Amino acid sequence: MKRIFVLLALASFALANAVAQKLPADKINLGKRSKQRAEMILPQVNGYNIYRADLHTHTIYSDGYLAPRARVEEAYYDGMDIIAITDHLEYRPNEQRFLDATCGYHKGKVEAANHLIHREPADKRGILTDLNIAWREAEKYGKRFGVKIIPGVEISRHPDSVGHYNALFVKDVNKIYHPDAEQSFRRAKQQGALIMHNHPVWRRKTSEKNEFQQRVYAAGLIDGVEVVNGYQFAPKMIKRCLDENLFMAGGTDAHGTTAAGYASRGYLRTCTLVFAKECSVEAVKEALTERRTLAYSAGNIIGDQTLLKELFKASVRVSIVATSSKGDRTVAITNLSSVPYELRRGKSIITLGTFQTTTITVAPEKNIAFSIMNMWCSTEKSPHGTHPYYKIMMDELAAQ
Ligand SMILES: [Zn+2]
Ligand SMILES: [Zn+2]
Repeated sequence: MKRIFVLLALASFALANAVAQKLPADKINLGKRSKQRAEMILPQVNGYNIYRADLHTHTIYSDGYLAPRARVEEAYYDGMDIIAITDHLEYRPNEQRFLDATCGYHKGKVEAANHLIHREPADKRGILTDLNIAWREAEKYGKRFGVKIIPGVEISRHPDSVGHYNALFVKDVNKIYHPDAEQSFRRAKQQGALIMHNHPVWRRKTSEKNEFQQRVYAAGLIDGVEVVNGYQFAPKMIKRCLDENLFMAGGTDAHGTTAAGYASRGYLRTCTLVFAKECSVEAVKEALTERRTLAYSAGNIIGDQTLLKELFKASVRVSIVATSSKGDRTVAITNLSSVPYELRRGKSIITLGTFQTTTITVAPEKNIAFSIMNMWCSTEKSPHGTHPYYKIMMDELAAQ
């Protein structure tokens, strides 16, 4: 696994003259304010704001435990700018619970729902549910909280033979189901959707494409991959995304509360960092189409090397604060963002906390080169035992 490597030439240090420079206020994405909101303050990069999006959530309208309104409230306090509501198209076991709860009103004559067509085609009746209710309800409450909602659906077939895929930016979920998953993709695409390949290693022994995936990828039906699902990282997907020009995403796949999955364990919520001009559904769609995304999970940022470098350079200021008589320089490194960085220089590790300055001494004529241990940009090697992701991957308490 290759981490991002940044060479900070000393020549550039001379340009920075303050110990702890602050970005001008208009360069900081402050987002919506609330003392309780878990903000992640990130700099503007190349004129883009960085928004936090969760492109994968569930509600009580499929197999989740929260109503759409609660999902929106939770997203607000988690610091999300935008979330996709992506209930399963073919697997909605909560419908039976609703029916069981209401059958008294119908004198027990409620017709059995065909809500468990997971892995199977729907029966002749098709799907007997208005599948647009969840995202519409979320959209209504999203306006109150300033959280934008992407209408979506998770096309959920057998994990080995087909897999799960989020159709994002759909217009009418009711028109997407088809017994053949590829035809479902095409129906979503006709509505202008982007298709994300979800949790590509979930319940699979390999991350290689199966026959179905080879076909739909080759047909250009896939736009992005969920490189991190909750805490499950699929490092080989980085190369796939780079080779095939796909966006990289991090999603919670939240079924229960994110408080149980993230806050209670001291982590910010897994998300996709979207580089966009404004916080709107259209601008986020444009950013995903142009592949301007990074995945965030548990303090790690994953994605294209250029984007990672630009984010790091915009987040960190470096300046020379003193030079000794022998020519040794004292260099101050200041992190102006909410993401802590772990920098390795030779054998030493420097932890650069959020909004913290640290100093190092540099001998004359020496450059400083860092490996940024929590930025991941390629899959040349598998993660090894000392990396945080190793621990995370061993953690069975995923956010589901
Ligand atoms: Zn899934
Ligand atoms: Zn899901």
